[in-house]
Amino acid sequence: MNREVFLTKDSFAPDDWKSWKFHMKNLIRTEDNLAKWINISERERRGITVTEKSYLWMITPYYASLMDPEDENCPIRLQSIPHPVETGSSSGASVDPVGDMKYAKTRRVVHKYPNRVILLVSDTCPVYCRHCTRKFHTTSLEGTYYNAEFGNDYEPDFEYIRQHSDITDVLLTGGDPLTLPDSKIDMILKNLRSIPHVEIIRIGSRYPVFLPQRITPELCEILSRYHPVWFSTHFNHPVEVTGEAAAAVDMLLRHGIPVQNQSVLLKGINDSVEIMRTLNRRLGLLPVFRTPS
Ligand code: SF4
Repeated sequence: MNREVFLTKDSFAPDDWKSWKFHMKNLIRTEDNLAKWINISERERRGITVTEKSYLWMITPYYASLMDPEDENCPIRLQSIPHPVETGSSSGASVDPVGDMKYAKTRRVVHKYPNRVILLVSDTCPVYCRHCTRKFHTTSLEGTYYNAEFGNDYEPDFEYIRQHSDITDVLLTGGDPLTLPDSKIDMILKNLRSIPHVEIIRIGSRYPVFLPQRITPELCEILSRYHPVWFSTHFNHPVEVTGEAAAAVDMLLRHGIPVQNQSVLLKGINDSVEIMRTLNRRLGLLPVFRTPS
């Protein structure tokens, strides 16, 4: 198949492309849709087939637009398209490798360290990383950590934090917190900021990588209302540092929101000094790469 026949960013109306809701309405979840973007390899087809009863997959059109259509070892493809090794097992492997279920105190609060909790506010992400350590919670068809007996109310989570004055640091994670509507993000931040002993509020999100259009002036205004809210994102490869991603991070920074990055070291994706050096240099200069809006 010729490269020209695949969809690209230019296949879409610019206003649609700039809308995060458009991307969420057009998530790629089937082989047929993925084949419009890339030449799916045999290994990838097998990965999709063997994982279909175990793990979810989906990809935003934006993230698909970063794929190399002809290279199955493209870092974007390796991070987002199911791989046959995902259903393998090894001794000592656990569905909960970071101990979330062991330290869960409420439906959403995981209290593992004395002064720090995580709040699992979502079980959904716009793209499911194949390397996710919360796979049981996010992509597993048998997931999630959410236990029906805790109900759907956030008050028990806030109350747990209110009752533990040693908690000074709350990390909103999931899934991806920015999957929630702005109003819910506002509600969560408002409640956390009203607890005097909560000093640090952090949001862990891959939206700047998977769908930077989600970073809107409206969202930044909400985050800046509860200043300081630290924003921790997750770029793994220089290919992910695009003009759109740069514009999203630039917008966060200009609203006074500190942004930091955590990369996961991934075999065959970024486990080289050269790639990590390039990634970190580009991240340090990220706003410079900004695409004018
Ligand atoms: S964005 Fe985070 S929580 Fe979501 S699939 Fe990737 S690593 Fe897991």
